[in-house]
Amino acid sequence: MSITDLIKEVQATLKLVPDGNPGPLTWGAIHQRIVVGKTAAVAAKVPVAISGSVDPRSEESIATLQPEVRPYARALVQSAAEIGIVIKIISGLRTYAEQDALYAKGRTVAGSKVTNARGGYSNHNFGVAFDVGVFEGSSYKEESPKYKAVGALGVKLGLEWGGNWKSIVDEPHFMFRPAWAAGMSESSMLAELRRRKSAGEGFFSN
Ligand SMILES: [Zn+2]
Repeated sequence: MSITDLIKEVQATLKLVPDGNPGPLTWGAIHQRIVVGKTAAVAAKVPVAISGSVDPRSEESIATLQPEVRPYARALVQSAAEIGIVIKIISGLRTYAEQDALYAKGRTVAGSKVTNARGGYSNHNFGVAFDVGVFEGSSYKEESPKYKAVGALGVKLGLEWGGNWKSIVDEPHFMFRPAWAAGMSESSMLAELRRRKSAGEGFFSN
């Protein structure tokens, strides 16, 4: 069951309009149910995550994401915390210009290559993808076996995980694929995202 379906179910239970678009009322109600634990049957199926905000560093990145993607990022942070892993969302939206600057590294400017995607060719450029960092205490771990556990949690939530990529494995990377892009190749999806962006259309409308 997708998170949207879960949200709708909770909204129906609470006799709110089950549109799958949670407003403060839904979040508040879900939060109450979870905290108070009155309706365990519902609460057990709703990730704790969607009950509110996470740490400030993560929220800074989450704010740059499409609204549809934000609950998933929070869900990932909180479900990792539930199994004792501290992660933060350390990267969200990148503008085309920021992506071009990254692409230049190891090509037209000094350093080693960090990406094969120029501006408009990364799913970060549309606010549908984010990167996590594993933390131990206050220290950021660039590499840790914990990334794989977090990857599994992300997949369970319905996210696509960069750790499953064939060419460049990118364990900190997660993406929430719009429904219209189901089964599409990455390049076709990105082409449609670029088109929608320049046309000023929503990325998640069908
Ligand atoms: Zn990434």
